[in-house]
Amino acid sequence: MPDIAHRPRVVIVGCGFGGLEATRALARADVDITLIDRTNHHLFQPLLYQVATAGLAAPAISAPIRHILRRQIAAGRLTVLLAEVQDIDAARRQVRLDDGTRVPYDHLIVAAGATHGYFGHDEWARHAPGLKTLADAFELRNRVLKAFEHAERHPGQREEWLTFAVIGGGPTGVEMAGTMAEIAHHTLHDEFRHIDSRQARVVLIEGADRVLGALPPDLSRRAQAQLERLGVEVRTGCRVTHVDAQGVTAQVQGQEAPWRLHARTVVWAAGVAASPLGRALHATTGVALDRAGRVVVEPDLGIAGHPEIQVIGDLAAAKSHPRDGEPTPVPGVSPAAKQMGRHAAANLQRRLRGEPAQPFRYVDYGSLATIGRKAAVAQVELPLLGELRLSGYPAWVFWLFVHIYFLIGFRNRLMVLVDWAWAYWTFQRHARVVVEAPPAASPSQEDGS
Ligand SMILES: Cc1cc2nc3c(=O)[nH]c(=O)nc-3n(C[C@H](O)[C@H](O)[C@H](O)COP(=O)(O)OP(=O)(O)OC[C@H]3O[C@@H](n4cnc5c(N)ncnc54)[C@H](O)[C@@H]3O)c2cc1C
Repeated sequence: MPDIAHRPRVVIVGCGFGGLEATRALARADVDITLIDRTNHHLFQPLLYQVATAGLAAPAISAPIRHILRRQIAAGRLTVLLAEVQDIDAARRQVRLDDGTRVPYDHLIVAAGATHGYFGHDEWARHAPGLKTLADAFELRNRVLKAFEHAERHPGQREEWLTFAVIGGGPTGVEMAGTMAEIAHHTLHDEFRHIDSRQARVVLIEGADRVLGALPPDLSRRAQAQLERLGVEVRTGCRVTHVDAQGVTAQVQGQEAPWRLHARTVVWAAGVAASPLGRALHATTGVALDRAGRVVVEPDLGIAGHPEIQVIGDLAAAKSHPRDGEPTPVPGVSPAAKQMGRHAAANLQRRLRGEPAQPFRYVDYGSLATIGRKAAVAQVELPLLGELRLSGYPAWVFWLFVHIYFLIGFRNRLMVLVDWAWAYWTFQRHARVVVEAPPAASPSQEDGS
């Protein structure tokens, strides 16, 4: 049995895409790893909107961290802790947990991801929850399903309960809006006596002049056309200036008077902010943060003056360093987090061997966004063939198989495949269970209902 006292101690904070990949990549290294996450599960965030819109149950897109990493735990190289890291002390090389415990490290990989950003208006959060965790997805699912129930019960408030606003026309906003329109037009249409769910309005509000701004303009146009076919009203050039329990106010490009939408259900998909651990790292190392609070890392993903700390995934403002050409910013997507996880693990092992760390290079395989049933857009980089752009049904089938392929675990893949096949033929969404949140958790729906 090797003496663990002599092994370098590696602490990894966060078991999302980046942290999980780093842990796996270090599986055979002669190090002692402590992986800390504040949840007991790894979450496949790209399918979180399916839980929020009642298409999938939570276990289909999440798996217990201990189960995923059981072999590394059994091999005696990995300790998994369910705890929140609240602070980092770079001078003493320790992280502090929520119960005050301090965990020492020789090498630290911080992969704590991002959270919602409300552009300085945190008071909007209670009226317009975002989608980042399973708890967020349950909250949104409750709000969407209960809105139809309120409309059935309160004839005088039908219009506002049947109006749904989604703020932000990025991939999450587009997915949410498209699927909510599907629920209104297909899933629920014959289940209410006093309302016609097909009269619900789903309004997607985007500040820029097109949705899916990260994709080429022709794919944005095709995405908007597909959204409109599903019954979504798309409002581009519309910058939200206020959100309250009754709806949304926005400034429309070229118009002086503000535009007001009365909507009792508002979804926030507009902004992200880095994990607060970015500020903790700034306080303890002096590292620069960008406007979203992300840690500005060195080309090798380390922190200037602290090569023993690496920051990866959505928390890092990292650049890709191609062999020839200028460095380019790395996007906040799961393939980038996974690649950074593997790179951080490789650099850590290089350092242990006394070799220099290598700069990070991101390999971009393209972008995908689903819009709803049989509707998606995709831009894919194929080896030898170059760029391929798909839209509509072929893009949707491609999206479906890519997401099933990348899900963790055979059981999860099978569950998702069966659920989607069922939903495809029946239009039903089987996870339509409302679990009551404590009253304080959904204030905007409690007011005046
Ligand atoms: C709704 C949604 C849809 C998305 N869709 C796509 C998509 O279709 N394609 C795509 O490529 N990307 C998508 N993304 C982005 C992608 O999920 C992220 O880029 C990726 O998850 C980043 O990985 P990460 O490891 O940096 O962070 P995360 O995966 O967010 O993991 C962070 C982990 O750290 C833990 N943690 C945070 N703070 C602490 C703390 N203080 N102490 C302990 N643990 C902590 C969290 O519990 C979590 O497990 C989506 C994101 C969201 C929210």
